[in-house]
Amino acid sequence: MSLHFLLKAEARSLSVVQVLAMSDEEALALFRQLRWGEGEQVVCPHCGMAHRHYFRPTRKIWRCAGCQDDFSVTSGTIFAFHKLPLRLYLAAAILFTNAVKGISALQVGRDLGVSHKTAYVLLHKIREGLLVGRDECALSGAVHVDGAYVGGKVRPENKKEDRVDRRLAENQDPDKRCILVMRQAHSEAEVAAGNVGARKTLTFIVKNENQTDIGKLAPAYIAKGSVICADESDAHDLLHARYAVRRVNHSQEFRADDGTTNNLAESYVSRFRRFHLGQIHKVAPKYLDNYANEMAYREDTRRWSNGDIFRDIVGKCARALVSRDWCGYWQGNHRQGERLAV
Ligand SMILES: [Zn+2]
Repeated sequence: MSLHFLLKAEARSLSVVQVLAMSDEEALALFRQLRWGEGEQVVCPHCGMAHRHYFRPTRKIWRCAGCQDDFSVTSGTIFAFHKLPLRLYLAAAILFTNAVKGISALQVGRDLGVSHKTAYVLLHKIREGLLVGRDECALSGAVHVDGAYVGGKVRPENKKEDRVDRRLAENQDPDKRCILVMRQAHSEAEVAAGNVGARKTLTFIVKNENQTDIGKLAPAYIAKGSVICADESDAHDLLHARYAVRRVNHSQEFRADDGTTNNLAESYVSRFRRFHLGQIHKVAPKYLDNYANEMAYREDTRRWSNGDIFRDIVGKCARALVSRDWCGYWQGNHRQGERLAV
């Protein structure tokens, strides 16, 4: 039996030790490279001018040759107005990278010697960077679809006579939400080249698994001509009009006689559940889209080396604009409402 990918040396191309050993200059050079690429030119975030702008090494800022404004390597990015050394942001990114089932803010706070508040916002900035930078091109080929309910577990009362029927809508927690997951399987050619499982995952937050929401999301994110694999839920019934749909009835079997499963969607849900139960414990509907997408990202990059994932994450954060939800979070700047997909 071949060695699991994560046990191979090629899976470990960067370590926390290496990141923490970086000098300030090395951390700056790395962030600069991941933001603007190789070469001498950097881009002013105020006016967009690409140039070899004047660099002031003591303050580590550039003076724009066009608009004369100053900017730092993080200006205009999700890490704008950074207060900690840049190295710690990179360290948070490698800790985040290495935690394949997610990491809690308390743990990052302990590892980096920063407060829970700081670590909480830092992790959420990374999650926001991943969501802003996600590739939303339509899925194609075989696409596995499923819905997973999150939150809203109503604790039963102590006495039996006080307990309510938790199946009824009026007795359910209003914070219960559904993650709708769509996963594109590797094509036959990609499988022949040694790939397994899914190649791309998209997640959406809906109030519940229903025909209307799925009927709107599927045409927007699944290309015509795709083959959809779904379970027996009637929420997927409208898809038959647009796509070839294969069904597996989970109350009877995990694999239909024709070989149909929606296991790729199920394996995403499994990773999300481990993250939810083992790391974050509670998830508010307000940030569920970020958490759901984090696990989608981890699934899709599961066969990348950790150095490649790290560079991709930092690059996405460097290209994500300042976040209104997370810049000044502890000064009272919060996302107003949850972000439902429909
Ligand atoms: Zn400028």
